[in-house]
Order: sequence, then C-alpha cells, then structure tokens
Amino acid sequence: MRIPIIGGNWKMNRGTPNESKEMLKALIPLIKKSDNVEVMIAPPFTSLIETFNIVKKTNIKLGAQNMYYEETGAFTGEISPNFLKEIGVEYVILGHSERRNIFNESDDLINRKLKKALQVGLKPIVCIGEHLEERESGRTKEVIKSQIDGTFKDLDKEEIIKTVIAYEPIWAIGTGKTATPEQAEEIHIYIRETLRQKFDKEAANSIRIQYGGSIKPTNAEDLFRKANIDGGLVGGASLQADSLAHIINAAEKTIN
Ligand code: PEP
Repeated sequence: MRIPIIGGNWKMNRGTPNESKEMLKALIPLIKKSDNVEVMIAPPFTSLIETFNIVKKTNIKLGAQNMYYEETGAFTGEISPNFLKEIGVEYVILGHSERRNIFNESDDLINRKLKKALQVGLKPIVCIGEHLEERESGRTKEVIKSQIDGTFKDLDKEEIIKTVIAYEPIWAIGTGKTATPEQAEEIHIYIRETLRQKFDKEAANSIRIQYGGSIKPTNAEDLFRKANIDGGLVGGASLQADSLAHIINAAEKTIN
C-alpha cells in the first residue's frame, strides 16, 4: 500500500523564521498524529533550521525547495545537499515548474540533481507537468513521457522507488484552476504505465504520485479518492494552517 504524502511548498510567499514558527504552531494541533499520511513542509532555506526545531517532535517531515547537484565547490548562491542533510532535511523538491520555467532548469539538470539527492540519501519529489498550450493541442502525454525519459534517465529500479513524483499541470498551479479528479487520474495512470515500461510493474505500483495544482480544502478529498493519486503538493493553500490541515485530514479520510 502506498502511503499518501501531502507536501506544503511555501515557495518565497511566506516563511521568515517567525512566520514559520507561527504557522507550524497553529498547524500541529489541527492535524491528527497518524502513520497513514505523510506530511512534509518545505519552507524557504532561511527557515529550515527553525522549522526543524519545531517539527522534530512531530510526524511532520522537513523538505527543501531546491538543491544543487554538487556537494561542495565554488557555486555562489547554490545549496549543497549535504548542508540540507545536516540540518534535518529529509525531502527535496526538484524540477518544480517555477524552477523549470523561470530559472530555465532542464530535464538534464534535474536528472543530475535527482541522482545526487538519491546518492546522499535525500528523498526527492520530482515535479512534471504540461503547459496549457500542450494540453490544448493534445500533447500532454507526449510531454509527460519526455519529462520522465529526461528526468529519470539512467536511474535504476531501487532509485525510482525512493522517488516521489508530483504531477503538476502548469495551467493549474497558482491559477485557482484545478484539474478534475478524472483529468488528474488519467495522467497518473499514464505515468504509472510509462514507469512500468521503463522499469517494471513493482516499481510502477510502488512509486507515489502526488497531484499538484490549486488543491484546496474544497477539492482535496475528491482528488485523493482516486486510486492513483497519492496525496498532493500544495502551494497557496499550504500557507494557512487551517486550509493545510483540512487538506491533510482529507487525505486521512480517504484511507479510513
Ligand atoms: C505548487 O506550486 O506546486 C502548487 C501546486 O501551487 P498551488 O497549490 O498554489 O497551485
């Protein structure tokens, strides 16, 4: 059985050390302590230590929003995966569409980061998803296949199983326009099928695939009820404790 994972990606929207502390103190009492749903919070780098000090007494896992693929060296402004590990980071989001589109990250760069994350023992959450024009021109599956081929190049089965995929249609991110549960499920099934062909059935069935794109308290449960949707990566709605708690508890409900 795949344990659903709900990730809160605060981006650069919120998360000074004080804001992070305040948000987590409000969130923790609102969510059930459970082993059935995994919860991950990715604050800005500057609040990781503060956040770790709060979440270490809970089931909440600490995530980073990005990392570099080298462990050390003259790379001004980049963050080594080892720096993240030492301060208690467990997950790292890689290839978010904002990294791909604003900072021109390619599948090849994300592939290098992914391999390094796995090598040092960070758990990667790799984002893939199509633009609106690609969906409207019927190319969604072609785009997803090419992202999977590029991003997961030369990975073996053990490595892919440790990876979480976030299917995030770009037209749904931060737009308030959510994919319907049926639209999301169709692509999650396609991702699993592509992984089955590339790796094998066991890998395809074990890997967790989150949905991301304007998840809200009002649509979360319907999305999470779909058989191939293993939780969600949440942006805007993760900034408020009550809406994030509602989404986490919705995931919990789909299990019980
Ligand atoms: C995201 O940035 O990964 C995301 C899904 O954002 P939002 O929930 O705001 O659409």
